[in-house]
This record gives sequence, structure tokens and C-alpha cells, in this order.
Amino acid sequence: MSEREGLLTTAEAAKLTGRATNTVMRWIRRGELEVARMDGRQQMVRQSDVQVIARRLQEAELLRVGQSRAAEQYAALTEALTEQDPACLGNEWFTFDPDDLDTDFRGELAKICDRCPLFDLCRAFAVAEHPAGGMWAGHYYTPKTWTRPDLRGRRPGQKREETTP
Ligand code: SF4
Repeated sequence: MSEREGLLTTAEAAKLTGRATNTVMRWIRRGELEVARMDGRQQMVRQSDVQVIARRLQEAELLRVGQSRAAEQYAALTEALTEQDPACLGNEWFTFDPDDLDTDFRGELAKICDRCPLFDLCRAFAVAEHPAGGMWAGHYYTPKTWTRPDLRGRRPGQKREETTP
């Protein structure tokens, strides 16, 4: 087994995380990354610790990209709503918990989406945002971690003050 196995220099840790060496040094100074060993004057860190940080950074980036994509899709949907009404306008069944509706009835609601002029935009937003509930583009969504509370529960065509708590 190599003497260095499982250990990285700060430069290698920087490369693995896609950050500058100075950033890795800052993590060490702040106690966010532990020095496992000194090799002369070189600080060595555990590869497994660096991989945890790399994964966290990657998840944060994915979340950021996902949020901005959802915002873009929502902007496109709201713009289209100024021109056309959604087929679900005023239909409160679309906001029900799917467990309270039988399968056939849910199928009927999905058919309403099929003929909606905003279907593609609605689906693009729902896929990016994963709304906490209700039917969007023929698909019922269930609660998940909120990333954009300002859009929470809002239906297409609903004004901000009408937002469901
Ligand atoms: S949920 Fe979306 S696709 Fe379905 S009717 Fe409403 S706006 Fe249209």
C-alpha cells in the first residue's frame, strides 16, 4: 500500500473540487477540512473528506441551476398566461390531494391538461420546480423540499395574493 494512499495535497484537493488551492487552505483554516498529516511542509488531507466537499459543492450547483431554470420556466408560463387562459382555470379539483380523488377522476382531469394550450410551458415549469401539490400538465405532484417558497402552491393564472398557504 502506498504511503500516500487516501491522502491528497492541497493542490490535488483543489483540482478534485474545482476550486483554487487558496480556497482549500481556507477550508483548513476554518476547520472545514482536517489536515490528516504533514509531509514536510506540505499539508495532506483525506481524499474521502475532499470527496464529501466536492459532492456538496456539486449538489449546491445543481440546486442553483435548477432554481434558475424553474424561475425561467415560470416567467415563460406567466407571460403566456397574459395571452391565453389555462384549461384548469377556476377548477379547484386541480389543487386537491390526489389521494382524495379516485383514479378515473384523476384521469379525467389529466385529459383537461391534454387540451390545454399551455401544456408544454406548464410541464416545463413543473419538471423544473416540482410543485408541492396539485396537478400540473397531467401529473400530480406531492410535497418535497421547497426551494422557491414564493411560488409555493401557486396555480397557473393565480395572482400572488391568491397563493395557497
Ligand atoms: S395544470 Fe397546466 S396543463 Fe393542466 S390545464 Fe392547468 S395550466 Fe394547463
